[in-house]
Order: sequence, then structure tokens, then C-alpha cells
Amino acid sequence: MSESLDPADWDAFRRLLHAAVDGVVDDLAHVRDEPAWRPVPQAVKNALREPLPRSGEPLETTLARFDELVRPYPTGNRHPRFFGWVHGAGNAPGVLAELLAAGMNANLGGREHAAVYVEREVVAWFVELFGFAENASGILTSGTSMGNLLAVVTARDAALGEGARDDGITGARLTAYAAAGVHDSVAKALRIAGLGTAALRLIATGDDGGIDLAALRARIDADRADGARPFLVIGTAGSVDTGAFDDLGALADLCAELGLWLHVDGAFGALAIASPAHAHLVAGIERADSLAFDAHKWLHAPYAVGCVLFRDEPAHRAAFASAPAYLGRAERGAAAGAPWYADYGLELSREFRALKVWFTLRHYGIERLGASIARTCELAAELGARVRASAGLELLAPVTLNVVVFRVVKPGLDEAALDRLNEIVAIAVQASGAAVPSTTRIGGRLALRICIVNHRTRSEDLDVLLGAVRTAANALGAVRA
Ligand SMILES: *Cc1c(COP(=O)(O)O)cnc(C)c1O
Repeated sequence: MSESLDPADWDAFRRLLHAAVDGVVDDLAHVRDEPAWRPVPQAVKNALREPLPRSGEPLETTLARFDELVRPYPTGNRHPRFFGWVHGAGNAPGVLAELLAAGMNANLGGREHAAVYVEREVVAWFVELFGFAENASGILTSGTSMGNLLAVVTARDAALGEGARDDGITGARLTAYAAAGVHDSVAKALRIAGLGTAALRLIATGDDGGIDLAALRARIDADRADGARPFLVIGTAGSVDTGAFDDLGALADLCAELGLWLHVDGAFGALAIASPAHAHLVAGIERADSLAFDAHKWLHAPYAVGCVLFRDEPAHRAAFASAPAYLGRAERGAAAGAPWYADYGLELSREFRALKVWFTLRHYGIERLGASIARTCELAAELGARVRASAGLELLAPVTLNVVVFRVVKPGLDEAALDRLNEIVAIAVQASGAAVPSTTRIGGRLALRICIVNHRTRSEDLDVLLGAVRTAANALGAVRA
């Protein structure tokens, strides 16, 4: 055996890799023929609990084990009838990019190599897409949860000033504001930032699902009168429950007037900007101080990749930069390339997640990606209309974007019984493999939640979904066909 960890026979490895690539392509080409989801059998879970391997096995053996235990039980989000949560479907250019990135084994913490410039180009494309100023900064993240955290920390440090880097929060009662439907990652970010979740004031929403601006202003005034220090408003572009939008232009006006930081959580909804028919929903987004969004949702880059942009690069860098001696920057050579991405976030070692976004944007172009986004919204509108027209189904919120929330109803059942019924319907539809809805609560009622993100979804997939919901409900005696 050779001393390095390289294959003894590169040609044998090449053949194995080619065969694995064939398997990946076959999976993607036939994803529609598979169930939308299947449970992981207990035997498989047991088989995935072996002790630490002491001596190795041939790659063929490991690959066979993957084929048997892992490959048949995917998340499901590649499938055109996976409607749960908010999941991107993945794309072919991203698969290619992941392989190339693994081959390069680049570390994007910083220094002077081409991958860093790919990330800068991708960030610059997003800066252009969202109309931020050219000198805005940004960094690719694992997703919007991380983007929200980086934004909260930056806003906190900007509010407290430089001293906070050494002294911490020292008793300042910072308060933040968001609509009641804001994603939980925002509360988590405030908790991790040392401000506590109680610092997040949840403001009621109006009929359109957006934040109630008068209630927001009243709460800020009341907090100020009470001696707290309002510092941050989090606007939502595309709420996770219903796809609702806050009025971002009005939030930008209010934040400018009151001297508050405006962060926008646009995990999927911000990408509405790529669809000419939907771009008006995010009007004003270019005035945010920071914006977090995902490339793995509506842009379909393989998991996991998101981005956060900052209007004020110095504030962004001040929140995260530090330079111990062993990470000294140089003017020239391999340690050049400042600013380093390590100065823009939590991580020092970072993967080359920019490459799959670069391939995605170059291959499709933003216009085609925008058309795909528009199509999912049209399908959601179609589903909303069909639910409204169906006896036995009740639409629970207007369809503004790509999310449809509804429930099965039956005369004579009280609210608690309806909640139980819909919970069981959701699980039955998932277990059937026909489609995957998720659930949420809308106005206290348990709702089936259909979020159409997938570029593979077609109108006939909605037939299958509604058929599966009816079958499950009928099996429970809830509605007549
Ligand atoms: C998905 C989502 C998040 C979290 O993003 P991740 O990429 O999963 O970390 C935050 N906010 C909203 C509105 C989301 O839909």
C-alpha cells in the first residue's frame, strides 16, 4: 500500500467515479417515477449504527452500502410533488459544480486564489440584482438562518459602537421589531447575540399579512418612553407560513426617520425580484441595511447556500474582522487577497459554495430563473382557485406568492377535531408517497401547507395532490368525493 491516501490505481478510481456519476444522472432523470417520499425503515436505521471502522474497505463496498442504505431514502425535495416547508429542488449545473469544487478542495476563508474571486463575482451579481450600491459587501452563508444571525450581530455592534467589541452589551436594553409571522431563526439570532428573545417585539399583521405599520410605530414609541433602545426592524419578504410581504419601502422610510437598522429576511421571497410580474412585491428592498436570502430555495443551487448583503461594508467588517498573527495578511503572495471572507462572518475555513451558484446563474441566466419562479406562483394561484372551488376544502389565507394554506372541513366537527383530522390527512398523504404537504397554524387552525418551489412541478401534479388529500380524507370519512 502506498504511503499517501491517494488511490493505488487512479484508473480504477476513475471508472468507479464515472459509474457513480451515471447513478446520479439516472436518479435525477427518473426522479418523477419515484415516490415523493418514503420512510426510512428501522432496519436501515439499525444498519447505520456500526462502530467506528478500524481498517478500511474498498470504495466499491462503501458505494454499494450507500446504494442500499442511503440513496433510496432522500429528503424528497427533488420530487415535483414535494410541497412541504420551503425546499429547493436542486439542479444539474449545481451537481457538476459540487464535484468540481470537491476536486479543488478550496478553502474560502481568504487568501489569494481564484475561488475567492468567484465568490466575489457571485456576491456582486446579487448586489446588482437587488439594486444595492456597488460598494455593498456580502458573503455566502449556509442559508438564511446564518445570514439573519450575521445581520443581527452587525446591527447590534453598529448600535453599540466599537466599545462593544471589547466590553459586550453592558446593560443596554436593545429591542428589535418584526411581524408576528417572522421566521424563528430571527428570534434565535437575537438569543445567540445575547439580546434575548424577549427583545424581539412581535407586531400584529394587517389583512394583507404584512406588518401593521401603525402598531409598529406605537410599540417603538412605547419602548423608547420606557427607556429601551430600539435598534433593529426585521422586514419579511415572503413569510414562511403564507408568503406574505411587509411593505419594505414604508419600513425603510420609518427606519430612516427613527434611526433604526432595517434587515430584510427574504429567504425565498426576495427572489420574487427576478420575476417581472412579482418584483413589485419587494419594492424598497434596495434600501435595506442588510438582506439575507437563499440560493438553495428558489434558485435551486444544491444545499446548502444562502447570502447576506450589507449596505455599509465597514460596519459589516467591524462586526467580524480580527487578525491574529498566524493569519497575517500580505500585500503579495498566497496570503494576499484582503479583505478575507473570514472578516465577514463566523467561519474561518469555508467551503467553495460559490461555485454551484456561479454555475446556476451562468447556465440559466436570471431571466430563466425568474420565469421558473413566476411559474411556481402561477401554479399556486391555480391551486388556490381550485381549493376555493372545492366543497370540503377551505382556503385559509390569500395566495400572494407560492404558498397555499388550506384545510379539509367537515360539518359537525369542532375546531379541535378539524385540527386532528388535518394533521392525520397530512401524514397519510406523505405516507402514500403521492405528495408531501407540511402543516402550520393559520389563525390558530391547523392548515395543510403547500409551498410550490420546485421547477419540475406541473399542473397535473396538483391533480395528484388534491386526489391524495381527498382519498385520505375519505378514508377518514371526512368528505364525499
Ligand atoms: C427557510 C427560511 C429561513 C431559514 O433559511 P435556511 O436557509 O433554512 O437557514 C428564514 N426565513 C424564511 C422566511 C425562510 O423561509
